[in-house]
Amino acid sequence: MTDRSRADLFLAQELGVNDFDGARDRLAGVEIALALAPDLAGERLGQLTLLVAANILCRLGPYCPKIAIVVPDTACVHPDLPLLPSGSPLGDVLCRFMEDTQRPEKRSHRQYRVGAFDDAFALALVIGDARVKASRTLYTWYERWTGGFADTSQPITYRGSNSFGALLAGALGATGVSRLLLERIAAPGFAPQPLPRAAALSAYSYTSPSTPGSEPDVPIQVDFRAIGPLLLVGGGAVASGLAFALVSLPQVVGDLTITDHDGIDATNLERHLIATWEHVGLLKATRVAQLFADGVWNGLVVRAYNSRYEHLPPAQWRTMIAAVDDADIRRRLQFDLPETLLNAGTVGPEFLVSRHDYGAGPCAECLYPEHSQPARTLVEMLAVQTGLDVTEVVRLEGERSPLTEEQIARIVERGELMFPEEVLERARHDGFRALAESACTTATVRPELPAATIGFVAALPGILLAAELVKEVVFRTGLTDGPPLAGAQSVFRFDTFGELQDPIELARPSRGCRCQEQLMRAAYLRRWRDDTE
Ligand SMILES: [Zn+2]
Repeated sequence: MTDRSRADLFLAQELGVNDFDGARDRLAGVEIALALAPDLAGERLGQLTLLVAANILCRLGPYCPKIAIVVPDTACVHPDLPLLPSGSPLGDVLCRFMEDTQRPEKRSHRQYRVGAFDDAFALALVIGDARVKASRTLYTWYERWTGGFADTSQPITYRGSNSFGALLAGALGATGVSRLLLERIAAPGFAPQPLPRAAALSAYSYTSPSTPGSEPDVPIQVDFRAIGPLLLVGGGAVASGLAFALVSLPQVVGDLTITDHDGIDATNLERHLIATWEHVGLLKATRVAQLFADGVWNGLVVRAYNSRYEHLPPAQWRTMIAAVDDADIRRRLQFDLPETLLNAGTVGPEFLVSRHDYGAGPCAECLYPEHSQPARTLVEMLAVQTGLDVTEVVRLEGERSPLTEEQIARIVERGELMFPEEVLERARHDGFRALAESACTTATVRPELPAATIGFVAALPGILLAAELVKEVVFRTGLTDGPPLAGAQSVFRFDTFGELQDPIELARPSRGCRCQEQLMRAAYLRRWRDDTE
């Protein structure tokens, strides 16, 4: 039990699963189809959507169902498709790839095969307009920046250079399939809400646009020199999604430096989209650099530093990307004053993508303050300790009415303190008073929970970070009005277990944060405004 994977933790925490073997057995009995419509079989973006979906789903590891790749026999790997050998039979090499993400001794338990359009499946993810016999089918589609899925099929006609719609179609499709699978093993009361009949997301506007074709498209060639020097901090799950998205761009000019001191181990394969078993032991930064082959792949040159950020030679990075799960590093990066800091992170089934440029929105320190909630009054402190709202605490203190089960559940889930069961029981009768009395005597501070994650949650923010980079470039070169993550609308939070249509948040800087000090603002302006105007 000490060696639980992060996916196990995720299932326990988010879905209430406690019989892991039972859950594995149930999922191992399901066969799903990943199908590509014949008219897209030779297309780069159709194949990319299929690769993303397969790549994410096979990372469910021990919880991965049987997967059949359903493509026309003649489909061969497009020369611009990453990770798979160009010109090889698509179905065969994709099955091999999925096997290669599993431990060699576990491969016999996983069953991947090339299937046929008239086989019967429990569940199908179909790219484009094709028919597969399945009890439930999700149809994915993409256009420009937008990708999504729906209950009914629609033809895909987009043939341009923008990879983001296809990447999101694959990732959201895999998220939809994962939800339908995990529903089957969730404990009662824990299942995510029913999957919406349709969902789509634009990596440009973070909306679900009714006419994706009206959003400005990317040029065939993206030139990163305008936003350099460019540094990626972190080489883990989110960074692998970002690297995967960047390696899917047709043509890039410029270079990117990545720094990470860590190596790829077997447990990383559950969510590291660019690693297979043969990369275990390799340093994460090295693996990212390797993918781009010194600029030979699509032009992007990636330089790897196998060290912590603090040990890099000092430099003024214009654009920094924080793909780390450490609040300390995020604050440190922000304090080092890049012109633009792009950030992403995951918590349970949710993720966040944010952009920070010392404008009207919060900085990364506002989002990740050193002291989680600077509590000033007793009521505020009690609110933090119990996880309830301040107004709720005020009301409950006055009323003395018993706490509801819903409130108790929130306290258990969100409170900074863990209350003994007998105190919670007392609160059920005597109300909030019981908690307030116990807060400083019997409750203990919640220990740091190990990060519970699962592949499909980390892939999406990685893709969106790559889109932010590309938008940063096209914005600077005057091709679009501006990056949508800007000003007070600079934080996008998304719940992969929710309605799949979360709006961009309105976020304000924190009072008292370092970013509001005159000295810091002046230093920022001195560094970045002199040479740009
Ligand atoms: Zn701030």
